[in-house]
Amino acid sequence: MVIVLSHTIRESDKIRLREYLEEKGFQIREIVGEENTIIGAVGIHPVDYREVELMAGVDRVIPISKPYKFASREFKKEDTVIPVGRLKIGGLRIAVIAGPCAVESREQIMESARIVKECGAVFLRGGAYKPRTSPYSFQGLGEEGLKYLKEAGESVDMPIVTEIVATEHADMMRDYVDVFQVGTRNMQNFELLKKVGSLGKPVIIKRGYAATIEEWLMAGEYLLAHGTDNVILCERGIRTFEPYTRNTLDLSAIPIIKKLSHLPIIVDPSHATGIRGKVPPMALAAIAAGADGLLIEVHPNPVKALSDGPQSLFPEQFEKLMRDIEALAPVIGKEVERLPEEVVIQTGTEAAVGDTENKVAFQGEAGAFSEMALHRFFTGEQIASVPCQSFEDVFEAVLKGSVRYGILPIENALSGSIHENYDLLLRYPDVRIVGEHTIRIVHNLIGLPDSDLSDVKSVFSHPQGLIQCKEFLDSHPDWEKIPYYDTAGSVKHVADAGKREFAAIASVEAARVFKMKILKESIETNPRNYTRFVILAREDAGEVLRPDKASIVFAAPDKPGSLFLFLKILADRDLNMKKLESRPIPGKPWEYMFYLDIELKNEQSIREAFSEAVEKMKTESDIFRILGMYRSGD
Ligand code: PEP
Ligand code: MN
Repeated sequence: MVIVLSHTIRESDKIRLREYLEEKGFQIREIVGEENTIIGAVGIHPVDYREVELMAGVDRVIPISKPYKFASREFKKEDTVIPVGRLKIGGLRIAVIAGPCAVESREQIMESARIVKECGAVFLRGGAYKPRTSPYSFQGLGEEGLKYLKEAGESVDMPIVTEIVATEHADMMRDYVDVFQVGTRNMQNFELLKKVGSLGKPVIIKRGYAATIEEWLMAGEYLLAHGTDNVILCERGIRTFEPYTRNTLDLSAIPIIKKLSHLPIIVDPSHATGIRGKVPPMALAAIAAGADGLLIEVHPNPVKALSDGPQSLFPEQFEKLMRDIEALAPVIGKEVERLPEEVVIQTGTEAAVGDTENKVAFQGEAGAFSEMALHRFFTGEQIASVPCQSFEDVFEAVLKGSVRYGILPIENALSGSIHENYDLLLRYPDVRIVGEHTIRIVHNLIGLPDSDLSDVKSVFSHPQGLIQCKEFLDSHPDWEKIPYYDTAGSVKHVADAGKREFAAIASVEAARVFKMKILKESIETNPRNYTRFVILAREDAGEVLRPDKASIVFAAPDKPGSLFLFLKILADRDLNMKKLESRPIPGKPWEYMFYLDIELKNEQSIREAFSEAVEKMKTESDIFRILGMYRSGD
């Protein structure tokens, strides 16, 4: 059963409840969610739920109808996201695990690690113990293989995944391994599951080649019941009457698991098909069907592989597959998980300049309005601004950890929201908003240092710059107006061209950076021209102190009054909505995501009302995410 605790439960009530359940022989597990805390209690002894419901501090009790309990969606509604170091598996990410079937030598695994990392995999796989059908086949290097695998993982800063085949190996393997794998042949080796579960490390449990989905979930339940919270299911094909492929890949298991369980599911198309040419299409199909990741065999020279050569990808094939996955990810609203970039920590007096700690990414050329906004937001702090080509590059830099923060324009007072950035916020689940800042946009006509207003014949600027200075430009009908990708970039263009008849529209800052002359100041039609920027950081950056604003996004179901219902949840709790923006959901015509900004007055009561509202909204929507809680810049 799932016991939802009341927000006001006292510690003493919690202890009493735990004691009561333990006395009745229940295994219990507490999950502290964003909005509420639940206790999952699993046991063979019948208990009258009403009795539990009447205990102090209990809000409600929900029975779990399935035989697998901790693994079921009934136990936990939200998708489980499994942390492994700085990486995550689950949620809106696609994690790719790659490497050879077996660790064959130190050189082979080092080379494999380098290849798969370069192509974009985030975990390194390799078997040190190989459960082979024939006793005469290569059995793996054992502990020596684990040493090489660990060294290879460390050399590229990738966590390692390897299979455990025997209970007695567990304690020895623990220090080598980041993620354990239990193979198809051992899915119902219950003693092994109990032991591996008790180690508390993440475990990939492969589906038995003759196992039903329910049996597979029960195997996951064994792991969860014995101590680990971090279980990843892996579909690797089942045995059917079809001999053309090694196994038959059951992709329908993905949506079924997604419905039945909160656990992430990955797919191994290598063992499923047994033929390398069939691996890329099935890998892409798995991602399209909703898999949270892939386990793929890649070998530096598959022809010489000691095991599973025919199904191992050549490095070039894997590189192409990774590029295809990158292209597919945004179509299904997911992000390919990436390793954070290594940060070179400098020593000595120069440290402050080269350090990630001080770097903030912005889109555009030096002197862009974004750069002005970031200097104002970080006033008084020693920071280095890092120009990026596109808004997406800003997200990438933050995600990879090559900068500490990013800044993005999100809304202009005259032209409205910058939709691309709303869409990107949704696509990057590991990046969140940690602040905001609004600046006034003052446009200037800028030319070469020796030019004059009367020289001007062509004006370059970002299309918005041209629109926002329409009145001024209309008073010069003979000028050619040429849209450019960026305001500061247009100044650079005029500077590089060296033509006196060229001018650009941009900030004072851009004129200063490129040593140009302001031909006419403040030419914007409406002086009340403001742009609001948001500051981004990685999800695992620290919490913002005393937030007074929250941004959320959700999909409202396609039924009468559904948006009204969401807004009512806020209204009923006296929560002030500051902004509502809708965006179409890619691939779902006429369905929309709604982005909301909510005022969080600092009093505890409002914060609690917000948590309560979040809990309620989550139950009403399939997609719900808090984009950030931060200090408002108003
Ligand atoms: C493996 O991943 O190396 C392996 C042996 O897989 P399976 O257990 O799915 O056959
Ligand atoms: Mn293999």
